[in-house]
Amino acid sequence: MTRVFSGVKPTGHLTLGNYLGAMRRWAAVDQHQADALFCIVDLHALTVDHDPARVRRLSRQAATLLLASGLDPEVCTVFVQSHVDEHPRLSYVLECVATDGEMRRMIQYKEKTAREGARGGSVRLSLLTYPVLMAADILAYGADEVPVGDDQAQHVELTRDLAVRFNQRYGHTFVVPRATHPKVAARVMNLQEPTAKMGKSEDVGSGIVYLLDEPDVVRKKVMRAVTDSGREVAYDREGRPGVTNLLEILAACEGGNPEDLSGVYESYGALKKDTAEAVVEVLRPVQERHKELCADPAYVEGVLRNGAERAREMARPRVDAAYRAIGL
Ligand code: ADP
Repeated sequence: MTRVFSGVKPTGHLTLGNYLGAMRRWAAVDQHQADALFCIVDLHALTVDHDPARVRRLSRQAATLLLASGLDPEVCTVFVQSHVDEHPRLSYVLECVATDGEMRRMIQYKEKTAREGARGGSVRLSLLTYPVLMAADILAYGADEVPVGDDQAQHVELTRDLAVRFNQRYGHTFVVPRATHPKVAARVMNLQEPTAKMGKSEDVGSGIVYLLDEPDVVRKKVMRAVTDSGREVAYDREGRPGVTNLLEILAACEGGNPEDLSGVYESYGALKKDTAEAVVEVLRPVQERHKELCADPAYVEGVLRNGAERAREMARPRVDAAYRAIGL
């Protein structure tokens, strides 16, 4: 059976980008086709300025939203990264096969350090090593597939490199995983800044649709989305990033092909209106289920406790094998 691993970072409220790029597929496809693990990667939330109580709160919220989006703890494993010691244990061993040069080449590291530098801030060492911890997250479970948005493609590539290098040097220990991306909405862009990804930790909040936004807030954000100077509704990532982003979101919500949809609309206004309603409809069941689950926090805690136990059992033999292979 194919094994799948993926995760979300509790650094902010989950977004429509997280949902369309990753979570929706986990619930609809991955959990049923595969022996799947979905993780709230809270250790990764410590790589940037953080407030301890907020990280803890956002971890629980992310877990609740994963369940609300349709993950079924009877068929897949949902857990919190810091509950399973095998992740940092393996990460250290992988740091001994990674090089500092390849870490410094990671695009997200370069972008985030540039941003911090501009603010006059300093960068945590864990931001540099975070892709190794991500590799450990994946390799500990022998995952074959990693369903992610395309912003994570480079990190999964690094994971593959580390697995191959470790196997060559110390004997076959790790499965070499591959990333899978959705066909549509693999990178949802910020509605106010459509050349930047819609990321939960970014600054332009009015361009981010959060999964828990009320319908009227969603409508307002979509109707105010920055479009392009032309008038024609055309699918063109380079020339018309704003309109193209809306077409991608609409197609992802309703099914269909964003390029075909471009022929259907004669005005930006009509496209925005339909996109807003489509997003409201996609979020509605998730929000309803979230509300129900919030009334039963003990259930969510139980899911996470069982999930951590299962995850530990799955990870430990491979991490032990990696320790033996490397000479410990
Ligand atoms: P972020 O902190 O950027 O929101 P995470 O690292 O928590 O993202 O990512 C969780 C999942 O959501 C990953 O699979 C990631 O690729 C996906 N994802 C995040 N943002 C987007 C986006 N704007 N479009 C598509 N997928 C996204």
